Amino acid sequence: MSIVDKKTFNEEIFSNIRKLIIDYKLIGERNLIAVALSGGKDSVLTLYALSQLKDDEDFIDFDLVAILVNEGIKNYRNYGIESAKKITKKLGVEYIEKSFKGEFGYTLDDIHSYFKSACIPCGVFRRNILNKTAHDIGADKIATGHNMDDEIQSYLMTFSRADILKFSKFGPISDKIHPKLVPRIKPLWEISEKNVGMWAIINEIDIHLGECPYSNFSLRGKTKTFLNNVESAHPGVKKDIMASFKEIFDVEPTNATPKDCNRCGEPSSSNICMSCKIKDFIEENKVS
Ligand code: SF4
Ligand SMILES: [Zn+2]
Repeated sequence: MSIVDKKTFNEEIFSNIRKLIIDYKLIGERNLIAVALSGGKDSVLTLYALSQLKDDEDFIDFDLVAILVNEGIKNYRNYGIESAKKITKKLGVEYIEKSFKGEFGYTLDDIHSYFKSACIPCGVFRRNILNKTAHDIGADKIATGHNMDDEIQSYLMTFSRADILKFSKFGPISDKIHPKLVPRIKPLWEISEKNVGMWAIINEIDIHLGECPYSNFSLRGKTKTFLNNVESAHPGVKKDIMASFKEIFDVEPTNATPKDCNRCGEPSSSNICMSCKIKDFIEENKVS
């Protein structure tokens, strides 16, 4: 086993992120970037990398803020919050915390049993809160910690669900298709999950390492296990999948322009947004 040189390893990771941001124009001059922070390794590396680039006088002039969404998962999210607070303080980045309880009136623990997977309401509510908060503070982009493995998993999941319209969401930046929809950028798009983990370990970063207790029941959790098994039997397969996706990811974007939800006014592909539909579903299940 070769010994990793910390300095070289860090330089490679950070220069990859810097190059991706420039090549794909992820950040514009004087942008305000809101990092979706969870306290886990991916979002923490995203914050570290962007914070370093923000201080780089030769780089694009931009500003940074961190938003954490507390889903309300007992014995899990509280550890991430601790790490997120410490790290933002250390890096001097403004920290904003929102919660499912504060915005929707219930924690994920309260409502997860109404759904086949806790990830269904979790993803919809988190996206809603992140977008609303980022838009309210005037952020130009939301930076997420999605790494290369996450992207491959998402792609395979859209195949398995035959959800072809989602293919247009593939890539390191999303289009601004509605005035209230803040575009998302993925600075770790080309960094493998293994390398993100290695970065956190060799730099002794204070992160939350726990796995969400609901993750194993999700399609994503199973897709991740499947891909990791294939990768150990055939090293390099993930990179090859990513290379194939890059070849074909420039698919036609959907022509569906989001409207405003009739109920809450947030961007939505139909008259009522997913968050409002999920809220209705929860209320119906509560009384039955
Ligand atoms: S694994 Fe699912 S339930 Fe857990 S934080 Fe992620 S999306 Fe939410
Ligand atoms: Zn709505």
